Amino acid sequence: MIGAGIIGSSVAMALAERGVRTAVLDIDLSGRLSSSEKNAGGVRATWWQPVNITLCCESIRYYETIRDQVGFRQKGYLWLYDEETWPKACEHLDLQRTLGHPIEALTPAEVRRRVPEIDRLEGLAGATFSPADGLINPNLLKQHYRVRATAGGATFLDRIYVNAATVDADEVRLHCSQAPAPLTDDDLVRLMTGDDADTAHAGAPFELRANAVAITTGAWSDKVLRIFGLKSYSDPIRRQICLVDNRVTNFAAYGMIVDTSGVYFHNEGAHILAGYSPPDTPPGRDFNYDGEPFFMDEIWPRMYARMSCCERMRHAGGWAGLYEVSPDRSAIVGRAAPRVYEAHSFSGRGVMQSYGAGQALAELIADGRYLKFDASALCRERFERNQPVLEELHI
Ligand SMILES: Cc1cc2nc3c(=O)[nH]c(=O)nc-3n(C[C@H](O)[C@H](O)[C@H](O)COP(=O)(O)OP(=O)(O)OC[C@H]3O[C@@H](n4cnc5c(N)ncnc54)[C@H](O)[C@@H]3O)c2cc1C
Repeated sequence: MIGAGIIGSSVAMALAERGVRTAVLDIDLSGRLSSSEKNAGGVRATWWQPVNITLCCESIRYYETIRDQVGFRQKGYLWLYDEETWPKACEHLDLQRTLGHPIEALTPAEVRRRVPEIDRLEGLAGATFSPADGLINPNLLKQHYRVRATAGGATFLDRIYVNAATVDADEVRLHCSQAPAPLTDDDLVRLMTGDDADTAHAGAPFELRANAVAITTGAWSDKVLRIFGLKSYSDPIRRQICLVDNRVTNFAAYGMIVDTSGVYFHNEGAHILAGYSPPDTPPGRDFNYDGEPFFMDEIWPRMYARMSCCERMRHAGGWAGLYEVSPDRSAIVGRAAPRVYEAHSFSGRGVMQSYGAGQALAELIADGRYLKFDASALCRERFERNQPVLEELHI
């Protein structure tokens, strides 16, 4: 496996459960730039497409069994809709319920009653509340996968960068570099944001051989697919999150709240974690966080327009990470070529689908077909066949 983020770690666990010997390679096992370290920890199954709902429901059922280990708090998702988006949200409620995911439709007055902090109802047409959804600690979840994978025989190898690959009839050869010590933050950023030739910091070259390889490299999957001569359909896109100093209001009783304006937020210890994804963000591996201006221009005005209690909120910090967005905003999971498998492009859904997607890919690798976890709709061929798995525009 190339890439030991939450997806690679989950696939490794699932392969170990099936007795497949696996090595997981990563240039930085601590995941300093990985999306798995930079996300909002939201878990929900309120999607439009059956495969996305099902993979999330299967994952949620698993997270419920390990809730204390991974900080899974099922406090629900409250999603507010305006006149334009409310009918679209309502169209999918029956499907979500039929697939086993409870969800309620609320009037604006009911929203106000449940969350008194939401005291400005302008532009609010309705809302959904899905009580089984909530928040998870993604770092603990990744660690959980890694511990179980290691106990089942998987090996996680650090400081290894995969530069090139050769796929033969009977094996895959990976041309790698191993750095003698962890890369500095600057060298890691140079390597992971630079062009393909900039591998000077990656260390001494060597070769690894495997029966098969899985590409689980998140927002770098386009680069890694290219070294296998495979087409990439997705783009990395910067997403920013800020921590808000909030001494006035406590949102700890609620899970994730998503406003009609697109801003989303939840309580995070003594802070609020809030994010917003400007629709015109260009693709690119950009880790620069805009800081206070991001809070003042994008976050605060939207929160204050909905809740007067947000008036005195202050910017406390934040960061930028990468989404890997596919053309239909659904993940790409399956067999990419003989001996080459893939699970990436989760389009902002990688944490919440990690368990189901890991199990699905492991079934395909170990058993040659999907058995309990069917991700066939997410195969790459859907783009050539013009069978997109179209998801809503979402956070
Ligand atoms: C701001 C933000 C908010 C988000 N919020 C949510 C949320 O609320 N809920 C949710 O479910 N998802 C969310 N996501 C998305 C989620 O974080 C990702 O979908 C998920 O973490 C992807 O995991 P991954 O393992 O595929 O990729 P990553 O975690 O990025 O791991 C990829 C790994 O591959 C390694 N790698 C790359 N190239 C190479 C190479 N050539 N050689 C060796 N190693 C390599 C990298 O070092 C990295 O460790 C959010 C993302 C962001 C940025």
